[in-house]
Amino acid sequence: MSVMIDRAKCIGCGRCTDACPGNLLILSEDGKARIREVRDCWGCTACMKNCPVSAISFFLGADIGGNGSHMSVKRDGFLYKWTVKLPDGTDKIIDIDSRSSNAY
Ligand code: SF4
Ligand code: SF4
Repeated sequence: MSVMIDRAKCIGCGRCTDACPGNLLILSEDGKARIREVRDCWGCTACMKNCPVSAISFFLGADIGGNGSHMSVKRDGFLYKWTVKLPDGTDKIIDIDSRSSNAY
């Protein structure tokens, strides 16, 4: 499992590079974010939650039951609106209140 960065969406703000606790994300010479080593990402999702343009998504592989789903997140006030795009093309939306998200 790992994050994927949509370079067309990335505006090079650097928030994800500051947020990653493993210092795995860097800005390339073209000003776009990239991950140093995909296999080092442990999926904490800090980078996703800090990206202002939802340029980062997360691959949910078969090893964790995702079977190729992709997960992305948008901030809406106190809510994190998580979208899981299933392999059949349908979306599953999960709302998490950021004020209580550490309770899960
Ligand atoms: S999910 Fe966590 S560990 Fe992986 S790149 Fe993002 S911030 Fe770093
Ligand atoms: S937080 Fe998003 S927009 Fe900013 S550098 Fe990272 S991927 Fe690009």
